[in-house]
Amino acid sequence: MDVKTPSESGGAAMESAMWVDRTLAGLKGRRNEFQVVIAQSVLDEIHNHGHTRLDAEVCGVLVGLPCRDDAGPYLHVEACIRGENATSASANVTFTAETWSHIQAEMDRLHPDRKIVGWYHTHPGFGIFLSGMDLFIHQSFFDLSWQVAFVYDPLGKDEGAFVWDEGKPVRREFLVQSDKPADETPERMQPIPEPKPSEGKMGMYIFILIVLLALAAIAWSIWMLYWMGGGGAVPSAIPEAAIMNRWVR
Ligand SMILES: [Zn+2]
Repeated sequence: MDVKTPSESGGAAMESAMWVDRTLAGLKGRRNEFQVVIAQSVLDEIHNHGHTRLDAEVCGVLVGLPCRDDAGPYLHVEACIRGENATSASANVTFTAETWSHIQAEMDRLHPDRKIVGWYHTHPGFGIFLSGMDLFIHQSFFDLSWQVAFVYDPLGKDEGAFVWDEGKPVRREFLVQSDKPADETPERMQPIPEPKPSEGKMGMYIFILIVLLALAAIAWSIWMLYWMGGGGAVPSAIPEAAIMNRWVR
């Protein structure tokens, strides 16, 4: 598998020297420690991707640079690439050889001067944590000290970032760089639920009832017009004498 993972293309020896000096204007909450900073546009894209599948996990990689400002090192996540052809079951996700080929092609095409700084995947409805398989993926492909795992639950609307801390991925607060206004309702990306069969049948019954009532009203109107116009055969067919007789008796 001809895949350049970050650890192969980067290497631990480079880690101390690779921080890019960059100060993000208007970034709130920066502390004197390593923090993950994710652009709002990337969060929105992860949310949108997550809402394309609510029955299975989706995944992708995070793109950016390890940076440094007055407060020290931080990770700037500036873009992401969807993991096409990734196989997923309900509780885990796997990067296949095809996924890596696609990611590498997109890196070369769109982000030649950026790095793969981590990965994201979704947990539809089962919360924020790293499973055994997730840990395996994180250790195998994203083992540099500044690489991050991001988990999003599109049903629970929760999300979390995991950074390396003494050899273990630990969930940490992350900062959001407001490079654009946030999408207000990622929910709108959810597929519109199909109407339940019973709802469809109910609609049909109501339609038939309305048609029957309309037909009855038309028939009644015609009858009334016919009868009031004096052409009614039934009332006039009753002999006047018979009616009189009833009253008389
Ligand atoms: Zn997972």
